[in-house]
Amino acid sequence: MTRRAPADVATLVTRARTGDPRAVARLISLVEDASPLLREVSAGLVDHAGHAQVVGVTGAPGVGKSTSTSALVSGLRRADKRVGVLAVDPSSPFSGGALLGDRVRMQEHALDPGVYIRSMATRGHLGGLAWSSPQAIRVLDAAGCDVVLVETVGVGQSEVDVAGLADTTLVLLAPGMGDGIQVAKAGILEVGDIYVINKADRDGAAHVARDLRAMLALAKDEDGAWQHPIIKTVAVKGEGVEDLVAALDEHREWMEASGELQKRRLRRARDEIEAIAVTALRDRFGSLSGHADLDSLAAQIVEGGTDPYRAADTLLDTL
Ligand code: GDP
Repeated sequence: MTRRAPADVATLVTRARTGDPRAVARLISLVEDASPLLREVSAGLVDHAGHAQVVGVTGAPGVGKSTSTSALVSGLRRADKRVGVLAVDPSSPFSGGALLGDRVRMQEHALDPGVYIRSMATRGHLGGLAWSSPQAIRVLDAAGCDVVLVETVGVGQSEVDVAGLADTTLVLLAPGMGDGIQVAKAGILEVGDIYVINKADRDGAAHVARDLRAMLALAKDEDGAWQHPIIKTVAVKGEGVEDLVAALDEHREWMEASGELQKRRLRRARDEIEAIAVTALRDRFGSLSGHADLDSLAAQIVEGGTDPYRAADTLLDTL
């Protein structure tokens, strides 16, 4: 059953660039669905991306990510920036463009033409976060967003992965969420560019800040290194958001001046190529399974005629 007319990708890209939210949504759906048109979408975006600052928002569940994201959208709008929000849900197989839009906190932005809000399910994708998210980010970038906020929703181990997609990573902490040491173990601290201590209205915020500062002091700074700011916020009241917006600007400026932006983008592009290539390879293996070669190689391993490394080489030779 086809409910929608076949998409003309070039037209969609043109419309998305003029800010047409339906074209933006449709392009992201093509990415999410791993449409056969994906290659065309990717090619169509080439000349129109690279402007947006991609900001990863990460932290343990309950720390206030979605509240902070919404407050940050308001802050960025006050600074006259166009904003995209991409909520990636790696635990859900359901595609649902409206998921995040339905979330109460995002409602206040629903009618703002300067804000695109989109959620994306990636569970069904092999290496989903790795290759679908960058494409969705590019769509938002091409649509003229100055900042694209990327947040993971749902449960999952992807808190750290988000950093791999971003120019700037915000790490959120809050009092009562476990101490800094625990956070460091999860690998979250290392990926932060800007630290946010949310729920600063609660007891213990100063304590978290102190722990964090002590931990950051252990990391040796080179000359000209980025000085990680620690910003206290009360996201539910929008407090501290202006400081956060300012810190994002400062980080972007530092990234450009230091060459770090280029470095991160190169690293990301490499990861992306690799993810796409590995996915393509897996697909080919998929079409090989049941193939006599793979079966006979497996039989040889079980019978002791060959070892798995040699068998894998043989298989690769056939590709
Ligand atoms: P997420 O799971 O990280 O996205 O966290 P949410 O944004 O859903 O917030 C979790 C809970 O913390 C909600 O009940 C929020 O209302 C509450 N919360 C968020 N920010 C603050 C804050 O600054 N102060 C207080 N007291 N509560 C907050």
